Amino acid sequence: MGRDTLTECLECGLLQRNPALPPGGTAVCVRCGNVLHRDRPDSLNRTLALTVAGILLFVIANAFPFLAFEMGGQTTYTTLMTGVLDLWEGGNLFIASVVFFTSILAPGLQLVLLLTVLVPLSLGRMPFWLPELFRWVRTLTPWGMTDVFMLGILVSVVKLSEMATILPGAALFAFGILILVLAGAQSALDPDLVWSRVPWMREPVRPPRPGDGHLACDVCKLVIHRDSALWDGRHLRCPRCADVLHGRKPNSIQRTWALLLAAVAFYIPANLLPIMTVTSLGKSQSDTILSGVVFLFENGMWPLAVIVFVASIFVPMLKLLILLTLLLSVQLGSRWSPRERTRLYRITEAIGRWSMVDVYVVTILVALVRLGNLASVQAEAGAIYFCAVVVLTMLAAMSFDPRLIWDGLERKHV
Ligand SMILES: [Zn+2]
Ligand SMILES: [Zn+2]
Repeated sequence: MGRDTLTECLECGLLQRNPALPPGGTAVCVRCGNVLHRDRPDSLNRTLALTVAGILLFVIANAFPFLAFEMGGQTTYTTLMTGVLDLWEGGNLFIASVVFFTSILAPGLQLVLLLTVLVPLSLGRMPFWLPELFRWVRTLTPWGMTDVFMLGILVSVVKLSEMATILPGAALFAFGILILVLAGAQSALDPDLVWSRVPWMREPVRPPRPGDGHLACDVCKLVIHRDSALWDGRHLRCPRCADVLHGRKPNSIQRTWALLLAAVAFYIPANLLPIMTVTSLGKSQSDTILSGVVFLFENGMWPLAVIVFVASIFVPMLKLLILLTLLLSVQLGSRWSPRERTRLYRITEAIGRWSMVDVYVVTILVALVRLGNLASVQAEAGAIYFCAVVVLTMLAAMSFDPRLIWDGLERKHV
């Protein structure tokens, strides 16, 4: 089965023909500039090789200590799980779950799922569970945040460098390479190629045509005539990947508003309350996000101060403002440059995850600094609110449908 001939841009909703691509070529939406498809040479084999390497590195990164903390003759070793377990035992169930999911479970599961999908595919088999598992790879991808976690490690090490000696462990190197391998696997993977090999559950009733009730699948990008969709009694489903089909993300505006308003409400305590308390030689000091940035700045670590400021203060604020602008512009039927607004949406999707860095810093410090009165770190309420803001803004961006920006224009034209 070849590639699909028609494709709907998932960012502006324009139905267009899939051009034949030269090796390594890229097809871009003629209206909004979104990348529709990229040809990746030898995609299956390269992704499979990188996935196998990734699983080995993942095991090493989790099995060995990644940092050692030395102070006053005492040493503590930390594995990736230590921080999660310490937070859990300290009663911070929410942060522990989010950190576990984003730094361990999502990347690990993503690798295992990729392996289970790619092995039968490269052997020319198509087991019935393959489409379902491959759908999960796509769902998990934005939640794997090993790269952000690495930045968290860097910030933590610099913060502690005055107080104690920090030694890198074998797992840290494995973790560093894992980030590159994961990024490599993601850019080598050609999801359209995988989907093009999945057989349809039912032959199409009639070919899709613009203006004739077509539906596009958000997951496998299949474009079909409405009559060709499967009906399960409640939803129309994609005849290829079985995902629920809908013209636009359901209740996109209401959902995005709800998530956005919740994020705004949590944003205030997230910035006012301390995110952690550091005890060193009997003295305790609580830090808010802003005072953490000021601390880095005053101690001459201004490049890091800038990074943390951008990730923890600037990005969440920018994200809230962009989502607010997009929602209002869609609801007011604004005609202001839809291309620019789509670009703004793309920015929010790309940058949001980096705000997680402060949550990771708290986790790593809690795990590393465990010497009782000599030195210890506790997570505080601000970190919970902040973690919630990051998760809520990510969910808000995911529930917003950028095609609504363009729908408004089309209605006016009609
Ligand atoms: Zn487009
Ligand atoms: Zn589909």
